Amino acid sequence: MSRQLTDLRLLYSFSLAASMAKNLRERDVMTCRSCGNEERASEGYPCADCGTFVCIICNFRGVTLCKSCHAKRPEPPLTPTNSTKIDWPEH
Ligand SMILES: [Zn+2]
Ligand SMILES: [Zn+2]
Repeated sequence: MSRQLTDLRLLYSFSLAASMAKNLRERDVMTCRSCGNEERASEGYPCADCGTFVCIICNFRGVTLCKSCHAKRPEPPLTPTNSTKIDWPEH
């Protein structure tokens, strides 16, 4: 019973995705919210914070946030904090 329901949902989401892909092919260009370039939407990634379009070139550079979200964050969360400051008393 439940398996049949899942199959129906899968079929529905599949047809929905197919129609969305058809729409995208007509206008597959979006402005990257990080670098401002117009890139293919199907090759880009959503911003990790707000889900807006960030192009694949920015993703290659390690940018996962759009400009405004990046500005909101003083430090990127993925950067390791390897500060060389040693809390050692001088003798
Ligand atoms: Zn970009
Ligand atoms: Zn964002």
